[in-house]
Amino acid sequence: MLQHSTEQQSRTTTARGKKLMATKTVTPPEKLYECEVKRRRVRAGGGYEPFWKVKTVAEAVVDGDTEFRCKDCHGALKLAKRQSAEGTKAHVEHKSKTDAEYCAGSTVFKEAAHGSAPRLSANPVV
Ligand SMILES: [Zn+2]
Repeated sequence: MLQHSTEQQSRTTTARGKKLMATKTVTPPEKLYECEVKRRRVRAGGGYEPFWKVKTVAEAVVDGDTEFRCKDCHGALKLAKRQSAEGTKAHVEHKSKTDAEYCAGSTVFKEAAHGSAPRLSANPVV
């Protein structure tokens, strides 16, 4: 609460002449910790069939999974390998910015100002 009111004050001050704060337009980087990975299982009639399994990104990395997709919009994901000093947890991001902005599970969706409902990826991974 204290921090909040301090922020309000500084906004009022900046509005009176100084440069406006840019915090409203900055979208934090996307961090998804769950994804779907492509696995194969034995088909009832023989042979194998692919299926998508939801798991955490950390698990997928340990298991050596190579095919990922978003569990919400089925869009392509990329594995983020950046590590910070604190040791960032393994996570994924949408390859397509458009997918991210329309994905129900994305943090970017909540920031996007298009006002549209979430939808599936235009180029889903199957
Ligand atoms: Zn998605």
